[in-house]
Amino acid sequence: MLRNSPESGTRQFEPNGFEWIYMETSGRRYQRLCESMVRNQIEARGVNDPRVLAAMRNVPRHEFVNESLIDQAYSDHPLPIGEQQTISQPYIVALMTEALQLNPDDRVLEIGSGSGYQAAILAELAYRVYTIERNRTLYEKARQALEKLGYYNVVCRYGDGTLGWKEESPFDAIMVTAGAPDIPKPLVEQLGMGGRMVIPVGSSDSQMLVKLFRDEKGIHRMELGGCRFVKLIGQRGWRGE
Ligand code: SAH
Repeated sequence: MLRNSPESGTRQFEPNGFEWIYMETSGRRYQRLCESMVRNQIEARGVNDPRVLAAMRNVPRHEFVNESLIDQAYSDHPLPIGEQQTISQPYIVALMTEALQLNPDDRVLEIGSGSGYQAAILAELAYRVYTIERNRTLYEKARQALEKLGYYNVVCRYGDGTLGWKEESPFDAIMVTAGAPDIPKPLVEQLGMGGRMVIPVGSSDSQMLVKLFRDEKGIHRMELGGCRFVKLIGQRGWRGE
């Protein structure tokens, strides 16, 4: 049993004179860290959609971070992924995913592929994920990570996500994982009837997580709480440096 296993590397002495050392495999170790992440960081804070929790359990987050940070992959904070960008804190990933209320046949647009981790979570819950990244190095890395893990329902694109992906619109859900000064108009236009969007909106160092919902009466707006994301840079975002 996972829970009763001694800590990896500890020596065990038995009354009959036998001695052994319990060595946990790395796969099992990550599984244990992931389970504790889901329980203590996500469920405990009120995300309880069982499909979202299952997705958070299924995706190996350590496969999306740099070798040198692998031990922190399941920790309660964002992590650097290179190119001055970060992979979001697990709780934020779960909260934003839950807000999208995904159905298995939904087509989802993600802006800011970063490591590819959030795209993998979305891919567990939706029919197809379209993800756009403006940084060439991260775009290549994310694509490789997703391919290695067999997420063939994710389509990656290199470019400016503030313009959306017109040819593939309308989308059932849109998630923006970088902070915007305002909600980019093309994204609102590409949100289908009944569609949901989550996007951090505000200044460059603090934003409000905003949820939009489109129905027959129009667009409705809700605020989910404060957050802090890297900048959304592009024609309808912040100006690049
Ligand atoms: N969702 C990612 C984390 C994203 S960090 C993950 O799970 O790892 C934000 C990302 O948005 C960065 O990689 C940044 O390069 C990217 N980004 C910023 N502006 C963008 C734009 N206009 N279009 C596409 N990607 C953008």
